[in-house]
Amino acid sequence: MSEMPEILRPTAEGITRAAGLLAAGELVAMPTETVYGLAGDARDPAAVARIFAAKGRPAHNPLIVHLAGVEGARTLTDLPEEAKALARSFWPGPLTLVAPLRAGHGLAPAVTAGLPTVALRLPAHPVARALLAAFGGPVAAPSANPSGRISPTTAAHVVAGLGDRVAAVLDGGACAVGLESTIVGFDAGRAVLLREGGISREALEAALGSALARDASGKVTAPGQLASHYAPRAALRLGVRAPAPGEVWIGFGPDCAGAELTLSAAGDLEEAAARLFAVLHEADRMGRPIAVAPVPVAGLGAAINDRLRRAAAPRG
Ligand code: AMP
Ligand code: MG
Repeated sequence: MSEMPEILRPTAEGITRAAGLLAAGELVAMPTETVYGLAGDARDPAAVARIFAAKGRPAHNPLIVHLAGVEGARTLTDLPEEAKALARSFWPGPLTLVAPLRAGHGLAPAVTAGLPTVALRLPAHPVARALLAAFGGPVAAPSANPSGRISPTTAAHVVAGLGDRVAAVLDGGACAVGLESTIVGFDAGRAVLLREGGISREALEAALGSALARDASGKVTAPGQLASHYAPRAALRLGVRAPAPGEVWIGFGPDCAGAELTLSAAGDLEEAAARLFAVLHEADRMGRPIAVAPVPVAGLGAAINDRLRRAAAPRG
């Protein structure tokens, strides 16, 4: 049996302890509004190597750097004008911006998988913000789960997935958004949607006052967006209105009254996003094949369907 990580309460004491572990090159799982992050000092090559090892994450999949304030972003990158507009609207929050690295950035090269760009985010969760402020430097933090598996939205998910591969878990309760951040890159200064996530395309377009390009140029790419990801152990089918005998049916909306589990009985997409990974973890524990009801694709539904498609994809 594996050892348990230290479980820290989100008090001033817990945050000081967590910041001390980060400064010593250890890994700490931190709550954010999206999912729990596996945090390490982004400037320390040994800490960053430990993140990749703990998750079994391929080295070509770069990490998102988390910052306490927008000043930190200025020292690492030159944000294009559209990036500044998006940062003003959505930071702190579930939006990641990818921009060119400045010389002398000081990040461990493995953080960006050797790319000349870096992915940055200012999380909104008060515990994450307190930890980042106490640590006082850039923190690399992918989701705190083994690579390819269901993302963690509670401290218990982190402990079940990583055990003592993380030194401590800062327990901030369940994550409110429940989906990873939306990732936006820039092509000649124009915003390009690289990954659907906790902020909808519609909300980004409203803030920019123009339509958002998809990654059609081939110039801006998000590496590591693997077809199979978020995978439960069991097989998973999508768009199911009538489950087969033996399947765990995950419903959405009032038409699925017979479902064993539901993303949202009321058919609310925000609730479904917040519950998605916890419901997948729970269905997986039941040890039977999983069938998920149709979820509409508008708004946050785009990101929910993206995660479900990759959870259902053939495993590599
Ligand atoms: P995760 O930590 O699993 O949320 O994954 C972070 C994702 O951010 C990666 O899989 C990439 O798709 C994306 N990403 C991180 N850094 C960059 C970058 N420099 N350029 C493009 N995409 C990036
Ligand atoms: Mg992840």
